Amino acid sequence: MSFTLAIVGRPNVGKSTLFNRLVGKRLALVDDTPGVTRDLREGDARLGDLKFIVIDSAGLELAEDDSLQGRMRRLTERAVEEADICLFLVDARVGVTPADEIFADILRRKNAHVILAANKAEGRAGEAGALEAWSLGLGEPLQISAEHGEGLDDLYSALQPLA
Ligand code: GDP
Ligand code: MG
Repeated sequence: MSFTLAIVGRPNVGKSTLFNRLVGKRLALVDDTPGVTRDLREGDARLGDLKFIVIDSAGLELAEDDSLQGRMRRLTERAVEEADICLFLVDARVGVTPADEIFADILRRKNAHVILAANKAEGRAGEAGALEAWSLGLGEPLQISAEHGEGLDDLYSALQPLA
């Protein structure tokens, strides 16, 4: 039994960095996989002994016009529908933004199973932002660094029960 994890969050929080770290070189970006929209990248992820499918809601970065909110919402909803669990990333160095609140709201409305993580938290730089993320009401924020590979043991512990 495996599961599908969707990485969601506003642009620039580190979704693709984490996607690439979890997928490594094992699988390419799949544009034509049936059931996966072109705006969602899917790959085979590995974390310790866990193997699962990961979705990066990559298309969000492409939307810079005034339909950004609508596009964000639709893509996130699609990612949530395709996934068993969502990893909701915020930027620990920036703290919680209004856009983060919108995502939190979408996830709540969709009744998504959410793991919250404050990324860019290497070297304790994200301590304050991570604390702030409690205010999203989605439970305890993990502190991770997608770029430096920190905190992934906590992510493992959070995902392990799903395997
Ligand atoms: P996305 O828009 O959510 O997919 O974010 P990206 O993965 O494209 O990352 C946005 C920026 O944040 C890039 O410049 C990354 O190098 C940087 N970034 C991602 N993860 C980390 C991290 O753990 N620590 C730091 N300091 N920067 C990061
Ligand atoms: Mg990206």
